[in-house]
Amino acid sequence: MALGSSEILQRATGLSPVRSGDHFDIIVAGGGASGLMAAVSAARRGARVLVVETSGCFGGAGTTSMVAQWLGFYNGLTCAVGGLPMEFAERVIARGGSKGFENYVLAEATAQPLRLKRLPFNPEIAKLVADELVLESGASALVHARIAGARLEGDRVTAVQVETSGGRLEVRANCFVDASGDAVVARHAGAPLKGVGPGEHRMGMSLVFRLSHVDIARFRALSRQDKRAIALEGIAAGELFWDVLSISPVGESDAICLMSHLDGLDSLDPNDLTRAEFIGRYQVGRISGFLKRRMPGFAACELAAIASHIGVRESVRLVGDYLLTEQDVVGATPFEDAIALGCGPLDVHEEDGRLRLFMPSQPFEIPVRTMTSASVKNLVVTGRAISASREANGAIRHQATAMALGQAAGHLAAEAGAFGWDVRAVPHKIVQDGLAAAGALPSLRHLPAQTAAG
Ligand SMILES: Cc1cc2nc3c(=O)[nH]c(=O)nc-3n(C[C@H](O)[C@H](O)[C@H](O)COP(=O)(O)OP(=O)(O)OC[C@H]3O[C@@H](n4cnc5c(N)ncnc54)[C@H](O)[C@@H]3O)c2cc1C
Repeated sequence: MALGSSEILQRATGLSPVRSGDHFDIIVAGGGASGLMAAVSAARRGARVLVVETSGCFGGAGTTSMVAQWLGFYNGLTCAVGGLPMEFAERVIARGGSKGFENYVLAEATAQPLRLKRLPFNPEIAKLVADELVLESGASALVHARIAGARLEGDRVTAVQVETSGGRLEVRANCFVDASGDAVVARHAGAPLKGVGPGEHRMGMSLVFRLSHVDIARFRALSRQDKRAIALEGIAAGELFWDVLSISPVGESDAICLMSHLDGLDSLDPNDLTRAEFIGRYQVGRISGFLKRRMPGFAACELAAIASHIGVRESVRLVGDYLLTEQDVVGATPFEDAIALGCGPLDVHEEDGRLRLFMPSQPFEIPVRTMTSASVKNLVVTGRAISASREANGAIRHQATAMALGQAAGHLAAEAGAFGWDVRAVPHKIVQDGLAAAGALPSLRHLPAQTAAG
């Protein structure tokens, strides 16, 4: 239940301190799209939860990397994500952080634009609502805190080591949800992973930035052909680095620009990540100068913000009890143990620079087995690091899907308490029924009848 602002302040002031040796039911690694949902979902079910987040706020790529448009709620006219992610979206809208869902042409200036529904939002408002969700849920939290190791006993993680400005803490739990996007706990626990090692291809990174004083209506009124011609001109001049002229509006005159693009760098290599932030900011300087000079609607623009963390599309993924494939996405394979629905689009940045972008013809099911592995019994991996092929990952990595997976992961972890904290022992029917009772749409049969056919 939503609290008033004085109660929020009281909860923030009264947050219980987290100390080395503390023991929780569930520790959630990362408070991004999926981790925020996992922590709140588990805490609402009565579990004692700690969420540990590297940055200073929750929301992950949507806030710290300013990826300010939610995709993955809708496939065509079918809304396939409800529950906690929809509550989050509705609360952002109610706070004035978004005007709501809109029809949009993704990658409009490229050779293969795609029509879909998106929800543009103000990432700063999303931070406020995320705080409220955490505080209302009663979860404990640590921000500016990085999980840097895991203690393993047999086939269970018993504790994680957390680096903070005050030194290293070790915190313990019965069950762990890895929502770090980079499978941090799974890696430290020795779970099998895909995409590890030098030379692995990663989708390109993008550093997002915000321009103020933009005439958004004027930019929107440009034809696709005009946008494409200007994009190609900018690339030829070395001032644009991608033909995607993607903007997400905040109010009438601020544009969050998703236009930089860096290939061939690995976010898990600290030297590459350092290069990426430098090169990303170089690109932002060039792009914003080009837009001001050349793009209708941008003549008066000013650089208002650069995301505090470059956007990372892909790193490593779990090799779980099931590997979701492109065929499962495209053919909507039915899974008895489905716990979330994906919508797409399938959005893969190929090694040769091509963008593979298309919408599956209907929502698709994601089985709980993509989040678990035989090697670590009390670990659930959620968000973009679930067990999926590169292509399937391209279809499940959108924020609404990551959030739906996060709600499911939190629910599963909370239920695991009755099964010796063995997440693989929890009957999937219990998770599905609980999720449905919380307003989520864990499988195609949970869609309202009139939309089930997409
Ligand atoms: C450039 C770019 C553009 C995108 N465009 C869109 C789009 O238009 N619409 C859309 O819906 N999606 C888009 N996505 C995809 C989407 O943003 C991500 O895939 C999604 O946020 C993944 O959710 P997640 O919870 O797995 O990871 P994240 O949201 O990234 O959250 C992971 C969290 O874990 C934290 N963390 C990491 N390591 C540790 C650690 N060791 N200890 C503690 N915390 C840790 C991070 O700080 C972060 O907050 C885009 C992504 C990128 C990078």
